[in-house]
Amino acid sequence: MSFSSFGLHPSLLQAIEEKGYNQPTPVQQEAIPAIFKQQDLMAGAQTGTGKTAAFALPILHTLADQQTPANIVSALVLTPTRELAQQVAQSFQGYGKHLSLRTVVAYGGVSVNPQLDAIAQGVDILVATPGRLMDLLSRGAIDLSQLAFFVLDEADRMLDMGFIDDIKRILRAVPKNRQTLLFSATFDDAVFKLSQQLLNNPQLIEV
Ligand code: AMP
Repeated sequence: MSFSSFGLHPSLLQAIEEKGYNQPTPVQQEAIPAIFKQQDLMAGAQTGTGKTAAFALPILHTLADQQTPANIVSALVLTPTRELAQQVAQSFQGYGKHLSLRTVVAYGGVSVNPQLDAIAQGVDILVATPGRLMDLLSRGAIDLSQLAFFVLDEADRMLDMGFIDDIKRILRAVPKNRQTLLFSATFDDAVFKLSQQLLNNPQLIEV
């Protein structure tokens, strides 16, 4: 199987080639077609499996030719930590380097002002930790009402870190007709319970 068989946008194929990826990893082979079918997804995947590209590529493809106003967030990726938020945002920027989509990263423990400035300049894809996202929402800095994609990355870690109430509040700010993608290294009762609250008839992938 090759990346071109997914029908990905030529700008994405170019970026993938520049990265030197020869073929999609197992999680990419399963997740990319499922996301293109506009299905919700529950994916069991560890770090290092290529899970970031598994959601970033179809999201970038879908948003590539859409014209949305500068202050409208089209995709939100929640991550448990600042480090993961930075990595995920860099992945979106790397795969999307030949597209004109704007990815902004927001996490706590640092001043909110540069993040507010970045958001004010326009954001298509927002990668954020839950606490800082709550802060941005309460300031009215972002509008999630037009969200097309809601991704929870390392959902098990977010629950372990006590973010469940933040996630539930964020859920109230996102529209019902979004596509939701949940990635988790482990599936315990807490992750399943969360998935029932978030996902609509999801496809289950385990690699
Ligand atoms: P992740 O699991 O998303 O943290 O990705 C782990 C590493 O695999 C990252 O350094 C990616 O750049 C790399 N990677 C992702 N997809 C592929 C692929 N199809 N072929 C080779 N490397 C990849």
